[in-house]
Amino acid sequence: TQACLTAIEGADALGAFVHKTPEIALAQAQAADARIKAGDAPAMCGIPLGIKDLFCTKGVPSQAASRILEGFKPEYESTVTGKLFDAGAVMLGKLNMDEFAMGSSNETSVYGPAINPWKVDDRNLTPGGSSGGSASAVAADLCLAATGTDTGGSIRQPAAFTGITGLKPTYGRVSRWGIVAFASSLDQAGPMTKDVRDCAIMLQAMCGHDARDSTSADLPVPDFEAALTGDIKGKTIGIPREYRMDGTPAEIEKLWSDGTAMLRDAGAKIVDISLPHTKYALPAYYVIAPAEASSNLARYDGVRFGHRAKLGAGDGITQMYEKTRAEGFGPEVQRRVMVGTYVLSAGFYDAYYNRARRVRTLIKRDFDDAFAAGVDAILTPATPSAAFGIGEMADADPIKMYLNDVFTVTVNLAGLPGIAVPTGRDAQGLPLGLQLIGRPWEEAELLNIAYRLE
Ligand code: GLN
Repeated sequence: TQACLTAIEGADALGAFVHKTPEIALAQAQAADARIKAGDAPAMCGIPLGIKDLFCTKGVPSQAASRILEGFKPEYESTVTGKLFDAGAVMLGKLNMDEFAMGSSNETSVYGPAINPWKVDDRNLTPGGSSGGSASAVAADLCLAATGTDTGGSIRQPAAFTGITGLKPTYGRVSRWGIVAFASSLDQAGPMTKDVRDCAIMLQAMCGHDARDSTSADLPVPDFEAALTGDIKGKTIGIPREYRMDGTPAEIEKLWSDGTAMLRDAGAKIVDISLPHTKYALPAYYVIAPAEASSNLARYDGVRFGHRAKLGAGDGITQMYEKTRAEGFGPEVQRRVMVGTYVLSAGFYDAYYNRARRVRTLIKRDFDDAFAAGVDAILTPATPSAAFGIGEMADADPIKMYLNDVFTVTVNLAGLPGIAVPTGRDAQGLPLGLQLIGRPWEEAELLNIAYRLE
C-alpha cells in the first residue's frame, strides 16, 4: 500500500486518481496486516485497489466525474466496494472516468482526461473510456487492480488500450446497488487487473446475490480461480464473420488470427459462425443507452445532490432546474439526455425506442443460436484500433467516437459475459486486445479459455 501511495504521488500527470484516500488506505492496510497475522486472510486481504468514481464510497467524494455531483459524499457504501473491503481490500482513492461513464476516451470527465501510460514519441494517448482512470492506474502500477463498470465496453476497451485484463460479468452477476446508474439494463461492474488469475480472484470478491438490486441473480457462485486449469481441449470457439468489418486494420486481423491459432493449438475446435444482426447493435445501443440515461439522470435536479446554480431575482423552480442542469452536465451528457428524451417522446417512442428494443432481442437470439449450436465462447477483437491520441476523436463528429464500441456493445445488449485480454502489439508497440464472449453465467469457463490467450 505504501509503495502504491508513493507511486501515485509521482504520477499526477496521468490524471488517473481524482481523489486520493491515503489515510483510509493505511488504516485498511493495518487492519489487513492484523488479519493476516491472525491467520484470517481472504484472497483480497491487503490488496491495494483504485475505485472508479462511479462507485459510491461512504464519506468519500463520489462524483461520477461530473460537476453536477460536486461535493456529494454518499452516506452509504456500494455493495461491490463494501464486499471488497470486507474481503480485506484497500482503497487508494477514486479513479477518473468519462462523465457518468459516457464516452470512450475519458475526455468527457470534469477533471480532464486520464492519460495512457503507453506513449508513442511522447504523444499523449487516451487510456480509453469510460473506465480510463482505472486502466491507466493498473497499467502504470499505481494499484494492483481497479474496479470498472461496463455499459457498452467501458471495461473491455480501456483494458485493451492499456494492455491489461478486464471482465464484464453476465448482467446480474454483480450488484449495481450504490453504483451511479447510466443505463440500468446494460450496466455491470467488473474487475480490471494485470492478468486473468487476478481477474478471477477479484470477481469472486465482487459478485453474488444482493437483495438490494432487483436484477441481481440468486445463483450459486463457482470458484473462479479453481476453474483456471488451462484445459480447453474439445471446447468450441466461434469466430463470427460479421465482426470482420471493412476497414479493419491488418494488424487487428493478424491479432485475431494469432489468437485463433493459440486456442486451436491448445486443443479447441474453431468454427465460423454468423451473428447476423451485429450491424444493428451500435444504432440500437445509442438509442437504448441514452433513453435509460435520460431517465436515470432526471434525479439531478439541484435539490437532492451536489451542485445547484446561483439564481437571479425572479428565478423560479424551472429556472433553478434549467440553470443547474446546464451548468452541471457537460456537452456529451447533455447530448445523451436530449437524444434519450427524444427517442422516448410520445411521437417517436415506437419508431426509435421500441424498434431498438426489438433489435436487442434479435441480437440476443443470434448469440442464443450460436450457443445452442455448441459454441462455448466467441473470439473477436476488443477494439477496432490501438489507443488513439488525446483530442484526436473528441474534436470530430461524436459518431466517430461511438464507432469505437462496435465490438463491445453487443455483449451488453445480450447481457453476456465478455473479457478483454492483451495478446499483441501494433506496429508502434502499443497494446492490442482480444475479446472472448461467453455463455450467460459461465464466467468460470470464459476465464479459463482467456487464460490460454495470455
Ligand atoms: N462508450 C460507450 C458509451 O459512451 C460505452 C460506455 C460504457 O460502457 N460506460 O456509451
